[in-house]
Amino acid sequence: MQVTEFDILIVGGGLAGLSLAWALGDTRCKIALVERSPPRPTPDWDVRMYAVSPANADFLQAIGAWKHMASDRIAPVHSMRVFGDGGAQLDFSAYEAGVGELGWIIESSLMACELWEGVRRQGNLTLLCPATPQALQVTRGAAVLTLTDNTKVSAKLVVGADGRDSWVRAALGLRAISTPYGEMGVVANFECQHLHRGIARQWFRPDGVLAWLPMAGNRVSIVWSTPDENARELLALSAEELCARVAAAGSGELGTFRLLTPAAAFPLRLTYLPQIVAPRVALLGDAAHGIHPLSGHGINLGYQDAKALAALLAATPDWQDLGSERLLGRYQRERREETLSMQAATHALHHLFRKDFPGLKPLRNFGMNLTNRLPLLKSFLVRYAIGDF
Ligand SMILES: Cc1cc2nc3c(=O)[nH]c(=O)nc-3n(C[C@H](O)[C@H](O)[C@H](O)COP(=O)(O)OP(=O)(O)OC[C@H]3O[C@@H](n4cnc5c(N)ncnc54)[C@H](O)[C@@H]3O)c2cc1C
Repeated sequence: MQVTEFDILIVGGGLAGLSLAWALGDTRCKIALVERSPPRPTPDWDVRMYAVSPANADFLQAIGAWKHMASDRIAPVHSMRVFGDGGAQLDFSAYEAGVGELGWIIESSLMACELWEGVRRQGNLTLLCPATPQALQVTRGAAVLTLTDNTKVSAKLVVGADGRDSWVRAALGLRAISTPYGEMGVVANFECQHLHRGIARQWFRPDGVLAWLPMAGNRVSIVWSTPDENARELLALSAEELCARVAAAGSGELGTFRLLTPAAAFPLRLTYLPQIVAPRVALLGDAAHGIHPLSGHGINLGYQDAKALAALLAATPDWQDLGSERLLGRYQRERREETLSMQAATHALHHLFRKDFPGLKPLRNFGMNLTNRLPLLKSFLVRYAIGDF
């Protein structure tokens, strides 16, 4: 059976895999991307809305992808209000922190479709879609992937960008330590009565964390991370009941709501991998880590993985091995600190508000109010969260 040879084989054409492919567009690498189904545009508003950090908007700009994303569907976040469960409030503002925006709210499908269109036109890339892998064999000189139609492709480096239940990760037996939160992230889009003024809002409530993200126009997208039982109850509500419940949970800050996109729910879990590389293989995006969405960092970490790996690959001279242990070791070291610190901080914050030890509630609310009075600390927190150091 004939084996088609490539330099890099990316398994998974989600946001992480596509951004890596695009970032390698100007290199001499011969790339193949294996994806089981292409992204589809959503007729109305995608229910999966992500907060993209300024550092990643810069990354997408630098690779030439950002300008293709319809600007009238993207909303800047100018400030953020966080409410504790005992009356505390913490305000962050881009102006006070000396940055342009705290982030951008953008549809997952918009980013995916534009990135897909870009890589489709890329001269150094072959799209294998629809396609799924069935076997991966790593030898000294190359990794060989057999697809389910028995096609064989080989490469110096295989990148597993195939999401939280990564096939590549499983095929290699790379250990992933997953801790389910027992919660789901309930998402939905609404039109709201009052202007949101580019303010993101987040409530730490006894029934979970509710975020209202400002969308383009007078719309908000919500992520309500809540115990499974409560999530199921929210999903079963009629449109009117859901609008009333969400508006009331946010103390009516934006008046009444009208449902634009029906609610959907995603089970949440923390996933930690001691190793994100193996001989001739690197993982990135959700294949490499899983994080609670309360800090909105999942794909932000994935884009930074792609940026780091692309930079290392682009800087590798032609005569050097793209799948070398040295290169993969550097990639792993470069990504470890940011990933672990984001996972730890988000997990700790989640625990701080989910536990109910006596005295903890006033303490956490006191901590929030205190932080609110410390502009230098707030400015540091903002810069850390948006990746601006
Ligand atoms: C409720 C919720 C809210 C979130 N909000 C935010 C946010 O505000 N900001 C943020 O940064 N992140 C957020 N996230 C996280 C974000 O959704 C993920 O981090 C991101 O989608 C991961 O992208 P990925 O490309 O790594 O993986 P995926 O999106 O899972 O893409 C994997 C790709 O691989 C393909 N694939 C998988 N297996 C195979 C196979 N065997 N063969 C071929 N192809 C395969 C899939 O079809 C898919 O296209 C949120 C997550 C949730 C659940």
